[in-house]
Amino acid sequence: MINPLDLDATGLAALVADLGEKPFRAKQLSHWVHQRLVDDVTAMTDLSRALREKLASVVEIRGPTVVRDTTASDGTRKWLLDVGAGNAVEMVYIPEDDRGTLCVSSQAGCALDCAFCSTGKQGFNRNLTTGEIVGQLWHANRALLADGVSATGRPERELLPSGGKARSAKGALASVPWVDHGRAPITNVVMMGMGEPLANYDNVVAALRVMLDDNAYGLSRRRVTLSTAGLVPAIDRLREDCPVALAVSLHAGNDPLRDRLVPINRKYPLAELLPASVRYLARAPRDFVTFEYVMLDGVNDSIEQARELAQLVREVPCKFNLIPWNPFPGADFQTSPRSRILEFQKTLIDAGFVTTIRKTRGEDIDAACGQLVGQVQDRTKRQIRIQRASANNAAH
Ligand code: SAH
Repeated sequence: MINPLDLDATGLAALVADLGEKPFRAKQLSHWVHQRLVDDVTAMTDLSRALREKLASVVEIRGPTVVRDTTASDGTRKWLLDVGAGNAVEMVYIPEDDRGTLCVSSQAGCALDCAFCSTGKQGFNRNLTTGEIVGQLWHANRALLADGVSATGRPERELLPSGGKARSAKGALASVPWVDHGRAPITNVVMMGMGEPLANYDNVVAALRVMLDDNAYGLSRRRVTLSTAGLVPAIDRLREDCPVALAVSLHAGNDPLRDRLVPINRKYPLAELLPASVRYLARAPRDFVTFEYVMLDGVNDSIEQARELAQLVREVPCKFNLIPWNPFPGADFQTSPRSRILEFQKTLIDAGFVTTIRKTRGEDIDAACGQLVGQVQDRTKRQIRIQRASANNAAH
């Protein structure tokens, strides 16, 4: 059975063509799946009974399997999703006054092994499919709508790009949940959950297309952010294929330190990463790149390092987002003291860079940056290496 959550507009068009139907049926199908958020083709009442029957024989709308659903004291909500074979991934909903952001995972685990990240410590199992990525947005919207959550102050015509008009025959407007509530619960997506999104390029790009598609979620490119540890060739491809807002996990102002914190730097050093970030801006929906910088006590947080950083990126139109490091069991780092983070921020601001400090959300349910762990059946040797290393340390 085909899961329509796996298909972007081109895929849905091909499916509908295979069934011998007119192209506009693909748009109707997309509205039902991604806007009315149904999970059953028999509910698609503006399609003929014959078409519904045909669809029911080849299509099954399969959302994620939720194994845990937890809400933090600040309203941040985390879902643990079973993706089979002992793997589970997490997604996080972050409500704010004027927006609702979903932090989406792209892989079960991560192969990049950044020194300070809990997902990295777990090793890597596999890429998520397009349907598993889109399914996160589909499910979160459904769950939040069912709870009556409407997170934003955006006018509904922004949410429904046709101007809020019904997309189907017979004025089915009232059954579009976004219109019923006047607001979509999720207005922003950040590809900042588990995994390196650019290491799962094809599935992530297809999923981004669905997020942006006016017949699906209709999010603006500015409201979809992809965060990468710096896979340079894929940054260039994304610029051509599907430019969305870009965040780059910088974390260090020189190569030796970055080699240690973000090992992919050994393959794509700063001298390649920074020009790629500048090139990206030619097509990006925003005129700056966001550099994420995790604040690690005594590692990358001195005033000299802030100055070095400012000097390094002086040619790059950018903003900084400082992330207080979030602890997880077994990690060897400490979060920088607040005063040091403020000094670091001031140094960057004085050098002319807009610099914000990321608010830590959902701490009491381990939903903050770098705390997502899910469950990963590691297929790399990483867990074994880590266990051996700690056994050696204990022996010495
Ligand atoms: N692979 C992507 C997405 C990672 S998660 C990337 O590297 O950009 C988003 C951000 O959280 C990244 O900047 C990542 O470096 C950061 N992060 C990872 N672990 C963290 C932790 N324990 N505390 C704070 N931020 C962390």
